Amino acid sequence: MSFTTFNLKPELMKQIASEGYTTPTPIQKQAIPAVLSGQDVMGLAQTGTGKTAAFVLPILQKLMDGSRGKVRALMIAPTRELAEQINETIKALGKNTGLHSMTIYGGVGMKGQISKLKQGVDIIVACPGRLLDHIQGYTVNLKHIEILVLDEADQMFDMGFLPNIKQILHSLPDKRQTLLFSATMPPEIRRLTQAILKNPLTLEVAHTKPVEAITHAVYPVNSHLKTDLLLALLKKTPTQLVLIFTRTKHRAKSLDKILQKEGYRASSLQGNLSQAKRQAALNGFKDGTFDIMVATDIAARGIDVSLVSHVINYDLPDTTEAYTHRTGRTGRASRTGDAFSLVCPDIADDRSMLKQIEQKLGGPVTSLTLEGFNYSASNSAIPKAAFARAYEGSPQRKKKPWGNSGDSSKRRHR
Ligand code: AMP
Repeated sequence: MSFTTFNLKPELMKQIASEGYTTPTPIQKQAIPAVLSGQDVMGLAQTGTGKTAAFVLPILQKLMDGSRGKVRALMIAPTRELAEQINETIKALGKNTGLHSMTIYGGVGMKGQISKLKQGVDIIVACPGRLLDHIQGYTVNLKHIEILVLDEADQMFDMGFLPNIKQILHSLPDKRQTLLFSATMPPEIRRLTQAILKNPLTLEVAHTKPVEAITHAVYPVNSHLKTDLLLALLKKTPTQLVLIFTRTKHRAKSLDKILQKEGYRASSLQGNLSQAKRQAALNGFKDGTFDIMVATDIAARGIDVSLVSHVINYDLPDTTEAYTHRTGRTGRASRTGDAFSLVCPDIADDRSMLKQIEQKLGGPVTSLTLEGFNYSASNSAIPKAAFARAYEGSPQRKKKPWGNSGDSSKRRHR
């Protein structure tokens, strides 16, 4: 099957070719005709499946007919990075359409956004909080919305955005097409879906299973030797770009510093950075200025860099959903990748999370030991000060970051 079967306009076909897409991905095969026909869609799909183009292409095609300069499509995403990522796809695929799009999110001034809105845009890609500010300040008009997309709905719920989204929905015309994408389906999102989608086509692509092009492995190591093992692993493993996940912003920053000291071209991406710095770090990772990015879960949401060969969980995530999202940053669009996790057998939460991850992957994860690494060292070789910074607080989680209910959907990202 090729893209020609969708009868997309030549302006779009040209850009599909220039992006190097030859065959539609499974979600594109199903979603593009459905969206073109005006149907609501509920897509159970994670990133890496080509879902962005699956909604962007038919939306561009539809908006090419009709009036310009009014906001006719609204796409809502949980993080600034993802919003930027979607907007980049719109700009790339919509290059010859004459349609204008913009992003709206917090952490940057309102003024610039207001003046762009005044100039007239056709598509807005927004994070919920700042969009609501604009709605409440009457600086955006959403009365002409024809299509609404809620992307990564489960993550928006995780981040506590559901009330904001419900408020935003009040400002939209009832008569519209709605598309909702989510990697998982917690009950709250299922209820939202039932409330706002009309006779939706439900698409399920690789459900919540992590991307198959990825090889998963764990490296058991006592917590005080984690950084040493990471450095040894990086030395011994041939990699392209490496994305490392930590549990907190602080740990991301400290680990980044240690890596830089060790001579790596590293950078970090975490929520404490200004939007300009986050974007600069991301651009540097994309254009090869940095080989290693250390990130927290939230900051990494929108990372779509095809050359990421390794995702390393320096700290295990809190939920299996986060594991899927993290590891999905490698193995993007038909490439393969490796996902390594440093697991501390001396930490109960690590042991339990590993069990849950193995359940999700459908079997035990290969456990590896790094040849030549001194696993029995009683001290870390990392200079004490840097070590202390990387482990500030304690390597042991003093208390569980979540309750004992086992309900992972209630946990908040840090
Ligand atoms: P997404 O799941 O939307 O985050 O997309 C993942 C990656 O797949 C992005 O880098 C896209 O540019 C790429 N991609 C999307 N559709 C296709 C396609 N049909 N063929 C090849 N790559 C694609």
